[in-house]
Amino acid sequence: MSMLEVSSLMVFYENALAINNVDLRCQKGEITGVFGANSAGKSTLMYTISGIILDIEKKERMRGGERVTVLGSIYYEGADIIFMETSDRAKKGIILCPERRRIFPESSVLENLKIGGILATRAQAKKTLDYVFTMFSPLKGLKKREGGFLSGGEQQMLAIGRALMAQPKLLLLDEPLLGLSPMMEEILVRAIEDINETTGITILISEQYARPILPIIHHGYVLENGVSVLEGTSQELMDNPDVKSAYFGI
Ligand code: ATP
Repeated sequence: MSMLEVSSLMVFYENALAINNVDLRCQKGEITGVFGANSAGKSTLMYTISGIILDIEKKERMRGGERVTVLGSIYYEGADIIFMETSDRAKKGIILCPERRRIFPESSVLENLKIGGILATRAQAKKTLDYVFTMFSPLKGLKKREGGFLSGGEQQMLAIGRALMAQPKLLLLDEPLLGLSPMMEEILVRAIEDINETTGITILISEQYARPILPIIHHGYVLENGVSVLEGTSQELMDNPDVKSAYFGI
């Protein structure tokens, strides 16, 4: 059985359909990719799996704003979690590393990491901290630096590190390469592969450009205007003549 199984998922912002009848699976221990252009629905999908969409819905309802509607099912380790609170999903190991990092800019690197590990045991936090500083060695010399003074690449390392501190079983990475140089992209892609291989954490990763990520995913989906138009292994996606130029810039 898949670790995560999304079925017939629909998400509306008022009358606009952001996710349209999407089916998606993540197999335990694998890296799954979701690729799509701007506004394809990648962040909405991540919000819906992590539960943040329910917080958005509540906030909108309280301020009399737009209606957010979620339909379908999301099975995680065998139970439907579609209406489960974000914090309960986090306790079960579903952790989102959001688009544009969203680190705490006025807190230091170490504080950002410790905040991420607030629910971890002392032993887990220590082990993960060691792993984060080994894998993202530039952060080691910047422990006291405020997050807001880091480069984009360092901030992304910190955002992933903070997510790891929360002890994920399913790590959701929303456009982690956004705005990074090709060299930094390469460092992060290698780190993401290492996280998966070393710790066995299951990863769902979204990106606009599939090219840097395709070699490390096991399975991938292409989203277009909220619809999943294609799925396959990385090789199948790369070999598909219809999508090569449109999605992968190959
Ligand atoms: P990007 O790469 O720009 O982040 P995305 O693939 O993550 O895009 P989403 O941000 O999920 O796409 O947006 C999907 C659709 O839902 C878009 O048409 C977007 O305009 C719309 N949308 C997203 N958030 C809201 C909101 N809070 N209210 C209304 N519409 C929204």
